[in-house]
Amino acid sequence: MVQNEGQCAQCMVKIKFCGREDGAAPAFCSTKLYPDEIAKAMTEYEKPDIRQFARNASLQEAECYIDRSAIPAYKFPVKPRVQEIIEFSRKMGYKKLGVAFCGGLHKEANVFCKILEDHGFDVVSVMCKVGRVDKDMIGIGPDERVRIGKPESMCNPIAQAEVLNAAETDFNILLGLCVGHDSLFIKYSQAMVTVFAVKDRAMGHNPLAAIYTYDSYCERFKQDRLKKVDVVE
Ligand code: SF4
Repeated sequence: MVQNEGQCAQCMVKIKFCGREDGAAPAFCSTKLYPDEIAKAMTEYEKPDIRQFARNASLQEAECYIDRSAIPAYKFPVKPRVQEIIEFSRKMGYKKLGVAFCGGLHKEANVFCKILEDHGFDVVSVMCKVGRVDKDMIGIGPDERVRIGKPESMCNPIAQAEVLNAAETDFNILLGLCVGHDSLFIKYSQAMVTVFAVKDRAMGHNPLAAIYTYDSYCERFKQDRLKKVDVVE
């Protein structure tokens, strides 16, 4: 474990310092270790547009639950993410939404865009292979393709972002982009980005399934328990 750097994922204290002033803070507590960085972050929220975005995101978060004043308190979430995206976009006053999707989820993108349009948004959508540029362009050889030796268009997340930038979308939504392609899209998108769904070919696009089955079907990820594990790449 990296020492003297944030390790919130290892924090097992019940009453956490970041939640309550009288809470406990482990030695690696990010709230304790990074006062300057946290102060720097807080100045960003003073920018009106960032503040409005953050405020609406938190309003949306709370509105995803019903019975919020029940005693004793319990969590009762009711809204699927597609509904969250619609409601958040309305809060922000967005009119034109961009959808950048993977060709492997074309049917899903078709339904998703219909839902957005049915709820009053103008939608611009763009698939990953836009531009039909062969993978040669980024140095992918014949043996490095999904279909060995065949011509193959590269996923082009920068072009996806540029298409939506040209369309002057208010907000861009990712659907099923691969690891890394999503990163490039986020880097080049001018509008803020959210994710509707991520790509996970083996887990039905639910990457947490591998975490939920860590003690059973995905125990191959336990490098410390199994002497030599071949993680399938
Ligand atoms: S900020 Fe501190 S108290 Fe909060 S989760 Fe991280 S380590 Fe735990």
